[in-house]
Amino acid sequence: MADPVEINRRIKRLVTRVRRRDDYGTLLATSQVLLPLEEVEDPDAWRAEIKRQARSDRIKVRTGVTGGKVWALLADPIPEVQRDEDLRHFHLYHSHLEPQAKALGHDVRVVLRDGEEALLICQRCGARGYADATAGPLIGGPLFEDECPEGGLPDED
Ligand SMILES: [Zn+2]
Repeated sequence: MADPVEINRRIKRLVTRVRRRDDYGTLLATSQVLLPLEEVEDPDAWRAEIKRQARSDRIKVRTGVTGGKVWALLADPIPEVQRDEDLRHFHLYHSHLEPQAKALGHDVRVVLRDGEEALLICQRCGARGYADATAGPLIGGPLFEDECPEGGLPDED
């Protein structure tokens, strides 16, 4: 099993990254983001940040300011690489993460996901788990190592 310190460090990094990515994440999930200008402190900086993140993911976006709104749109459909990440994540989830946590009595849900990294939590006891589908996969945290203190039968739900 993975080193708990390393797992906690990775969870922290993932949470920070996903929080920072809120608007960009919405753009990826829904193909567009539209915000009232008064909610954006610096529209030019906002647009530059969206473009920077899109460039690093090799995604084309268009951004602008129209009628009191600042907006960003995906110029192309979500690229293939992201679909591959989704598939690897979902495969890992169904083949390892869910069965492993369930066997310990946890009721597992994915809280955050970014690419191939995911933060998972038990809805009964709050135990956390982390998984990175690329690194091995790397799986760790109490969710996958300790029995659920609130756990009933694994198939209770
Ligand atoms: Zn639990």
